[in-house]
Amino acid sequence: MAAARPPSSRNTDEEIRPCHLCLRCVEACPTSALAYERPRWRLDLSLCMGCRDCTAVCPNPLIQSS
Ligand code: SF4
Ligand code: SF4
Repeated sequence: MAAARPPSSRNTDEEIRPCHLCLRCVEACPTSALAYERPRWRLDLSLCMGCRDCTAVCPNPLIQSS
């Protein structure tokens, strides 16, 4: 399954509200592949299994799978 991409990588014409750093995506990740280390996001592709749990919990459509 495809790996997730962190919020800053999204690029569409869709109106996107800013990430408000609720960190639900980080908490939902079962493998700790996704992390926010202020001021940067880290996505460890070697840990991401493409489950999309991070996208499911985001209140805005900020994370997408590639
Ligand atoms: S797709 Fe799954 S494993 Fe990958 S960053 Fe999101 S929650 Fe973590
Ligand atoms: S769940 Fe969405 S809004 Fe919350 S920190 Fe993650 S990307 Fe940002």
